[in-house]
Amino acid sequence: PFHKSKGQHILKNPMLVESIVQKAGIKPTDVILEIGPGTGNLTKKLLEAGKKVVAVELDPRMVLELKRRFQGTPLSTRLEVIQGDVLKCELPFFDICVANIPYQISSPLVFKLLDINQRQNFRCAIIMFQREFAMRLVAQPGDKLYCRLSVNTQLLARVFHLLKVGKNNFRPPPKVDSSVVRIEPRKPLPIPAGKLKEWNGLLSLCFSRKNKTLGSIFGQKKVLEMLEKNYRTIESLGQLTNDSEAIDMSVLADEKDDQVDEDETMEVDDGKADEDEMDVKGSDADSDNDMQANDPNFKAKVIDVLKRYDYADKRSSKLTQNEFIHLLSVFNQAGIHFT
Ligand code: SAM
Repeated sequence: PFHKSKGQHILKNPMLVESIVQKAGIKPTDVILEIGPGTGNLTKKLLEAGKKVVAVELDPRMVLELKRRFQGTPLSTRLEVIQGDVLKCELPFFDICVANIPYQISSPLVFKLLDINQRQNFRCAIIMFQREFAMRLVAQPGDKLYCRLSVNTQLLARVFHLLKVGKNNFRPPPKVDSSVVRIEPRKPLPIPAGKLKEWNGLLSLCFSRKNKTLGSIFGQKKVLEMLEKNYRTIESLGQLTNDSEAIDMSVLADEKDDQVDEDETMEVDDGKADEDEMDVKGSDADSDNDMQANDPNFKAKVIDVLKRYDYADKRSSKLTQNEFIHLLSVFNQAGIHFT
């Protein structure tokens, strides 16, 4: 009866459901957003703890079952069910989100919740993720799983690991272990909203090879060409800031490739990581032989910024969020931009 493609794994351990609800810290006045309520095991406890539950469920059969479960009970008056894809629908108002989601929507869901253009003013989200994904969200500089997803999420939110959850708490059991994470949107953000697009541009460069030095990443011909183009454009416009620019947070959601590329412990290895590695080596060699193609002064300018602030020999795998913010700001001061 369960659809694998919809990530349907029902929570069957009542103690676990209880402990998730407890850790969520729900107030009796809270409007709760639940994503993927399924048959309603979590929904029931949420209805008992809060004022109202708005549940978004993709599968019409589950919607029916959920409605049937609460029909005629006093809880039904405080339950609103929206049938649809949470990634496509407009999010309703809510105070807190509690959800055991299908893992395939993890990354886009996190960025939809935190997207400052459509972000509801919510307190926090308590979400079950695949363990590995959860560890990426909370990873710190130097941790093996520290990646672009970690830095991007932690720029927009404070993230805490709450609970380890084994496979056998679900029916049917998934292939991987899980973890419950608490995500609290940061207000205010550590950088102006108008800088988010550039921030993402910088990070995607820095994490293109997270174990290479920044000096070698920024010495690549293709990278310099792109930065120089931005530099000339902005110079000719005579404006050195683009703070007023509209922010496209959808770019932040583009984490899939990242995960596959860097993930050494993923279950499915499609050999993609190797291909990418070759690619980058190729373009590196290029950059060494082919330097005249770039304005040498521009290259010197970029490398000078890195050296002056002691970033040239550093690697993204060890840089803190504040260092990335600082790096963006010193590049910008030198007129170097990432969009
Ligand atoms: N919350 C229930 C529980 O804990 O027992 C079920 C959790 S199950 C892991 C995920 C649920 O999300 C399924 O009911 C599935 O149909 C639903 N779902 C899958 N993709 C969805 C989407 N894009 N939007 C909303 N619901 C989705």
